[in-house]
Amino acid sequence: MNFTDTHTHLYADQFSDDRSFMVQRAISKGITSMLLPNIDLSSVDDMLALCKEFPQYILPMMGLHPCNIGADWQNTIQIIEQHLRHNSYIAVGEIGIDLHWDKSNFNDQKAAFIYQMMLAKELQLPVSIHSRSATLECIHSIEQNKLFTGGVFHCWGGTLEQAKQVIDMGFAIGIGGVVTFKNSGLPEILKQIDINHFVLETDAPYLAPVPYRGKRNESAYIIEIAHKLAEIKMLPLKAVSDITSANAERIFNIKAFTQKQKLNSI
Ligand SMILES: [Zn+2]
Repeated sequence: MNFTDTHTHLYADQFSDDRSFMVQRAISKGITSMLLPNIDLSSVDDMLALCKEFPQYILPMMGLHPCNIGADWQNTIQIIEQHLRHNSYIAVGEIGIDLHWDKSNFNDQKAAFIYQMMLAKELQLPVSIHSRSATLECIHSIEQNKLFTGGVFHCWGGTLEQAKQVIDMGFAIGIGGVVTFKNSGLPEILKQIDINHFVLETDAPYLAPVPYRGKRNESAYIIEIAHKLAEIKMLPLKAVSDITSANAERIFNIKAFTQKQKLNSI
C-alpha cells in the first residue's frame, strides 16, 4: 500500500536530530511521495537539500506562506518568482490567507496570494493553499480573478457548502490529523463529499493525528489519517490508499515530475 503526503514540512528544525531516519521510516511504511511546501526565503536551502537527499520521494514546492508576509514581501516574492521560473517545482505553495492571528496585513496577504496564484496559472502549476480562518476570502480571490489553477485547499477548515464551491472551481480538499480529533466536525462534512476530491497530508511537524496528538508529527503517521478516512467512508484501507494516491497523482503529476528529475540528474 502506498500513500502520498501532499503537505509536510520535513525540513523543519523539529527533525534536526533524526531527519534521515524519520524519512526512511516513512518510506518503509509506504509513504512513497512527500510534497514539501515552502515557507519563506529562510526555508529554501534546507528544503532543497532534503529533496536532493531523497530525489524520488521528496518533492519541493515554492511559495511564500501567508503568515510570513512581512513589510518587504514584494521583494521576497520577486526572489520566490525567480526560483519558480528557473527551477523545477511540483507546485506553488504554500500560499494563501490566514486570519487566525493577524488580520492587520490582510490586504498584503491577499495581494501576495493573488500574485502567486497568477504565477501558478502562467507556469501551469497546481497550488497548495493555506486558508486558516479565511476560506471565504481565498475562494473570493480565486473566483474574482479566475485563477482556476487546480491544487489543494490544505488542512480543510471550511463548511460543506464551501467545500462544494472549492471542488466546483477544480480544487481538492486536503485532509490531515484534525480529522482524527475528538469533537472535530470534519468527519460529518467528509461523509457528504466524494472521496475522489480528497488528498491526504500530515502538515508535519504540526497537527499530529490521534494517538500522537500534541506530539511531533511525521509523514509515517499519515496511515492514522488514512485509517480514519477509511472508517468515515466505510471503505477498506487499501481503497483509501489507492484512491487518494491516484487523486494526488492527478493533481500534481508526480510521476512525470520524478521522471524529469531522474533524466536531469543523469
Ligand atoms: Zn503547511
